[in-house]
Amino acid sequence: MTAATAATAPQRRILCIDHAGVLGGAELSLRDLAVSFGESAEVLLLADGPFRAALTAQGVRVDVEPLGALGAVKKDAGLPSLGALMDAAGIAKRVARRARAYDVLYANSQKAFVVAAAAGLLARRPVVWHLRDILEEPHFSRANITAAAQLANLRAAGVIANSHATADAFVAAGGHRELVHVVHNGIDVAPFDALSPDAGPEARRALGVPAEAFVVALFGRFHPWKGQQVLLDALAELPGVHALIVGAPLFGETAFEAAQHARARALGIADRVHWLGFRDDIPALMRAADVVVHTSVLPEPFGRVVVEGMLAGRPVVATRAGGVPEIVTEGETGCLVPPADAPALARAIRGLRDNPAGAAAMAARGAAHARAQFSAGAMCAGVARALDAILHEVARA
Ligand code: UDP
Repeated sequence: MTAATAATAPQRRILCIDHAGVLGGAELSLRDLAVSFGESAEVLLLADGPFRAALTAQGVRVDVEPLGALGAVKKDAGLPSLGALMDAAGIAKRVARRARAYDVLYANSQKAFVVAAAAGLLARRPVVWHLRDILEEPHFSRANITAAAQLANLRAAGVIANSHATADAFVAAGGHRELVHVVHNGIDVAPFDALSPDAGPEARRALGVPAEAFVVALFGRFHPWKGQQVLLDALAELPGVHALIVGAPLFGETAFEAAQHARARALGIADRVHWLGFRDDIPALMRAADVVVHTSVLPEPFGRVVVEGMLAGRPVVATRAGGVPEIVTEGETGCLVPPADAPALARAIRGLRDNPAGAAAMAARGAAHARAQFSAGAMCAGVARALDAILHEVARA
């Protein structure tokens, strides 16, 4: 994000609410949006963590209001307990007190939307939900899906969906189509532009990855649906290929992470797998790879990592599901493979390795497409337009 982008954004008083203190994709997108909203916006986090510092570093006003028992509710479980609902009522009152100083409540996650919906009712403020999840099983329980869609119909002045796939799932869940504005995510290109030509080789050296090895890289938090296991199975079919696995179990999936280390050992590929944990130098690490892969086994709502791989000038292999086909055109700007299909993933990686000229041309087309279609500026402008339209409707009602 540049200061110029921020300066041109309209100055509405927006209270942004996010349940997470960690840096997931939703939070990284909100960071760029919060900068563009300008000085009259504030972010309220329902958990403390590194996201707070990341916002402060960008000059965004931020405060924390811990969620209590509602924070422990899992999205694939049933409806919240009475204790969680009582906590929600308490926090809704506190958020409502803050909300009176703002024109609109902007909820960046489902839990944040539940809190914002209640707070908005108490404070008589419109609520906009930025929907960044596919409301489908098994991502969410059936009870949770129905409750979320109905709450949106009842209390959201508008829903901003991060892809058409996300929007369609919302409508299929019973959400009203007329509430929805689709705005694709966008990525700040500045960190990619700032990379030196040596960034990739330097990162390889620092990681101890052989300079001549063919390297694939996967970026994302540890979770069974993000598909780290699929890459490991594919790697077993690709002798000599190394993998960078970048990301952490952000929401407590440590047993799954340990199981993947064990899987790599059992497959006899542990010496070719580099576990890097959570990193904040994603562009350089992408440059260190020959191919960026995305392996989600369930529909990905959008997939920031796919756009980032393209911006890094790397050929991408991604899963054909959810919002990803809205980013990648098969064979043109990247390769698409079926979800949870390790042999297909291995074939696609092999195809790129064996055709370096074709892979480079695809990467160049991907980079141009990502720059044109998925910039942070385009996302911020799209969200500003959606907010305008939503608040215009609210004023007319
Ligand atoms: N990411 C990061 N450090 C890591 C792993 C991932 O900063 O170690 C970033 C990644 O670059 C991307 C985001 O986390 O911007 C993940 O977004 P995505 O839409 O792919 O998935 P989500 O987390 O929203 O499910």
